[in-house]
Amino acid sequence: MQQAGSEAAPAFRLALSIAAGIAGFAFVRRKLGFDHARQHAAIALASGLLDANRDCLKVLDTDGKMLRVSEHGATLMEAETPEQLDGADWLNFWRGEHRSAAEDAWVGALAGTSTCFTASCDTTKGNAKWWSSTLTPVVEDGAVVALLCASEDVTRQSALLKTLREQNELMHEMESHVRLAFYSYSPDFEHCYHVSAGIEGVFGITSQVLSRSPSAWLDLVLPEDTEPLRAEMRRIVAESAEGRFEYRIRRPDGCLRWIRSTAYPVRDAAGSVTRIVGVSEDITVEQERLVALDRLAYTDGLTGLANRAALVRRMKVLCAKKIAFGLMFIDLDRFKVLNDTLGHTAADRLLKDIANIIQKALPADACVARLGGDEFAVIVNGTSDKDTLTTLAESLLNVFSSGTRKDQTGAFVTASIGISLHPEHGNDHEALLTSADIAMYAAKKGGRNGFRFADKAASDVLGDFELERGLPAALASGQFVLHFQGIHEPRSLAVKSLEALVRWNHPTRGMVGPASFIPILEESGFIVEVGAWVVDAALEQLAIWRAAGQGSLCMSVNVSARQLRDNAIVAVVDQGLRKHRLPPRCLEIELTESALMENPALAQETLMSLKRLGVRIAIDDFGTGYSSLRYLADFSPDTVKIDRFFTARLGHDEATASIVRGIIQMSHELGMKVTAEGVETKEQLHILRDASCDYVQGFFLTKPMNAASMATTRHLMALQQGQTSIGQSA
Ligand code: C2E
Ligand code: CA
Ligand code: CA
Repeated sequence: MQQAGSEAAPAFRLALSIAAGIAGFAFVRRKLGFDHARQHAAIALASGLLDANRDCLKVLDTDGKMLRVSEHGATLMEAETPEQLDGADWLNFWRGEHRSAAEDAWVGALAGTSTCFTASCDTTKGNAKWWSSTLTPVVEDGAVVALLCASEDVTRQSALLKTLREQNELMHEMESHVRLAFYSYSPDFEHCYHVSAGIEGVFGITSQVLSRSPSAWLDLVLPEDTEPLRAEMRRIVAESAEGRFEYRIRRPDGCLRWIRSTAYPVRDAAGSVTRIVGVSEDITVEQERLVALDRLAYTDGLTGLANRAALVRRMKVLCAKKIAFGLMFIDLDRFKVLNDTLGHTAADRLLKDIANIIQKALPADACVARLGGDEFAVIVNGTSDKDTLTTLAESLLNVFSSGTRKDQTGAFVTASIGISLHPEHGNDHEALLTSADIAMYAAKKGGRNGFRFADKAASDVLGDFELERGLPAALASGQFVLHFQGIHEPRSLAVKSLEALVRWNHPTRGMVGPASFIPILEESGFIVEVGAWVVDAALEQLAIWRAAGQGSLCMSVNVSARQLRDNAIVAVVDQGLRKHRLPPRCLEIELTESALMENPALAQETLMSLKRLGVRIAIDDFGTGYSSLRYLADFSPDTVKIDRFFTARLGHDEATASIVRGIIQMSHELGMKVTAEGVETKEQLHILRDASCDYVQGFFLTKPMNAASMATTRHLMALQQGQTSIGQSA
């Protein structure tokens, strides 16, 4: 229960004066000594005041019975007339807790003090109303003779108050659960007028801390985000414009959070900014989701490297900033074959391992991406220096084949790399990707396991894409032709055998060499058909020459890795020999080292089948791969063909001469014959002869030529007898 204070409300003061009036009225009635007119005036004044008042005014006797209720009071109580309430028990209107409040006030007033209380009671019609009531004792001769009760109808206010309180609670609840803080700062951010309770959830500091030191939140911002944030704050103030900024903070508890703050300037009537208000929210979850989405969109699922989109995005940034960089386009050689023969699981493992190797071999800041399939690309930051990129490309090629891989597929992997430079080869990502791609294609054409820079020569190779389209029709329309090159005995120079070398007599380009189209044939698998044609055409020609008198002449045919993948080549060879009635020993199949290494088990199987037919086997281009002669001996070849790389160095470099002598000696020990290719000088021929090389082949002895040239010039006959102009002089 409240005691009425000294600063009585106007209603209360009015009630007091009325009470005094009524007290006077009672007194007059009892004493009967006063003038009647004055009595009337007093009564009229009192009841006029009573009725003019907006409260529900009641005079109660000391038993709590209502003696008189004001006119307006009756209306508030929804009574028909004030008389309807005469004699009603005031306390009986109150129920429950309200009744207790009313009783307390009643007792206090009876004891002689004014009391107030706020409680709810029903009107005569049973509608609940809230009342703020004051009970004032009417004292006569020191005794309380009556009580004046003034009740203000506060139903509306209390409903409003209730809603307010509920809203407040809701806000509080929301603030404590949502990571959101409202703030109001001075335009220079120097004073903090208000921050909501949510500040603790967002920044981990209390509003008290901020009111003491308004920039305490700024101290939490990560150093790299501080300056841009301050700049934005300065802009908001300078332009008095709204702003929004995202930044990271380290909260006092140590955890890192992403915050988004929005700020709005508040202007006064004159238009000048008086406050900056806004909201700061914790957007860490949102940010993490974005990062995860970003990662998903820009990562290659298999290898975890960047994907094409990420690479392009990076290149766009570098191009826009005009920063020099190198782009390497890496394509694994013969991956299609590996994929088919190893199976997808092993091939995937291989790709992952390759991804790892590329990353380890390059500077940490290089952006390595997988573009799909067996294509990788690398952005080498900050350098377009050819020497640096050459070193990087070389070291990459070395680790690929160095056998340090962990994928255990055992597959021999090489790659071809094309390199373009920004800005030298293009100003945008498209131009750079295209030129790197063309350079890569040129590297493939150049024999694979190598790299090329994008340049004019590389882009000439682009023409080979057209070749690729013409290939399927070429076989059907008889555009492939064979040229033949002699394989000689080094002393007599007699031709023991001929190597069949395929050419493509292209309708518009003329004679195209095998280096331009064999890789395409292999990649597309079309080599199987063309290879079968080569075997048949070579054997047909051999049969013709043997029938014409060269009874002991042999033929060498090149077979590529792809043809070793199934037994089809065995049937092709078998049928060819039967069809042209030739003994198997007159055919030698040349296989490159790397073709054998691609899938040793499969190669071994096919080789064995060929050997069972009685066909001879030669290892071609020996020394260019990475296998040892001892390992290759497991294939039990009949011949080893030393690559022309070694032959070319004979006479210049003694180390190479010893290597060649070593190869010859070891091959002989293993029961194999040795042919040296690419003999271009008399000196080379002599060194080989002295080293006991079994056969020699090269431009110095015969250049490849077509069958007609060989026959019409009677060249072949002469060659077989060692009667060449060079031969005689050698
Ligand atoms: P290869 O088996 O090493 O064939 C020898 C290549 O060296 C031929 O080039 C030949 O013209 C060239 N050559 C011969 N003597 C010399 C010389 O003294 N100096 C130099 N610089 N080069 C010499 P070609 O005809 O361009 O053949 C290139 C490669 O294409 C062959 O290398 C072979 O691997 C492949 N090839 C050719 N014909 C066929 C074929 O019918 N099937 C398959 N699968 N591959 C073939
Ligand atoms: Ca060959
Ligand atoms: Ca060769």
